[in-house]
Amino acid sequence: MSARELIVLGSASMAPTRHRAHNSYALRWDDQLIFFDPGEGTQRGCAVTGVSIAKATAVCITHFHGDHCLGLPGVIQRRSHENNASERPGGLDPLPVFYPADGEEYFDRLHHSTIFDDDSKLEKRPVPAAGIQGQLGEFTLRAEVLEHRDTTFGYRLEEPDGWSADADRLAAAGVQGEDVGVLLDQGWIDTPNGRVTADEVTVPKRGQSMAFVMDTMPCEGALELARDVDLLVCESTFLHAELDLAREHKHMTARQAAELATEAGARRVVLGHFSARYPTSDVFGQEASHFHDDVIVAEDGATVPVPHR
Ligand SMILES: [Zn+2]
Ligand SMILES: [Zn+2]
Repeated sequence: MSARELIVLGSASMAPTRHRAHNSYALRWDDQLIFFDPGEGTQRGCAVTGVSIAKATAVCITHFHGDHCLGLPGVIQRRSHENNASERPGGLDPLPVFYPADGEEYFDRLHHSTIFDDDSKLEKRPVPAAGIQGQLGEFTLRAEVLEHRDTTFGYRLEEPDGWSADADRLAAAGVQGEDVGVLLDQGWIDTPNGRVTADEVTVPKRGQSMAFVMDTMPCEGALELARDVDLLVCESTFLHAELDLAREHKHMTARQAAELATEAGARRVVLGHFSARYPTSDVFGQEASHFHDDVIVAEDGATVPVPHR
């Protein structure tokens, strides 16, 4: 099974703390390595966790508040450097960067914020509206509008539905070992008991999905993104005791994040984007665990596996 996991590069909101860098996440998903909201400190977070910016396959930015994009200049310049140094014929592949289309001026400023020879091979992919934004490998990237103080899009990555071999049916058909691969590849195999076809031993397998919801109040778009996902990464800026503050700044509480996950049927929820007002983070997990049974509190440097089906 290929690795599918979230690497937390940072988990603070506006103000980084002693233990938390700005919001920043990398998602390893088979052949994809997708950066979400690279806040300040992203390069350092990559160095600590062993994530290679040279291997990034896409960057998704929800909105242009600094805690979601101040690390972008570093990512771009590192990418440029890595492309120059690459021994691969033709260098690195182009790097698509998705961001709200009406924030183009901020993107351009971040892109050209300091002196460097740009060899980054960025591919601008402004998001004009909700909907499918394209394919990342065999996976579909979708965006939905969130409810924050400026234009904000959340993202969802979807694997297409497929088929998988059923162990009981394989055993009943007497197919084992390398023959399984042959059967699945060519669609049939001849056994001493006769021909076995792939559809006799396979069952439909629903594709996995992941959603990134940040920054927002609870809203329809967040619910759409989170619907039945295997992994939901969700902002949890405040505790519910500060619900008024959350509403005022258009953010969510840990309880709301967990309620969203439950309502949407998300299997695992990772809470992040914590306000610096809270000295410890376990309080978010304690609050959210009353409303969802698989809650993980993001810690900088941690890796969170996408649960297997
Ligand atoms: Zn934020
Ligand atoms: Zn924001």
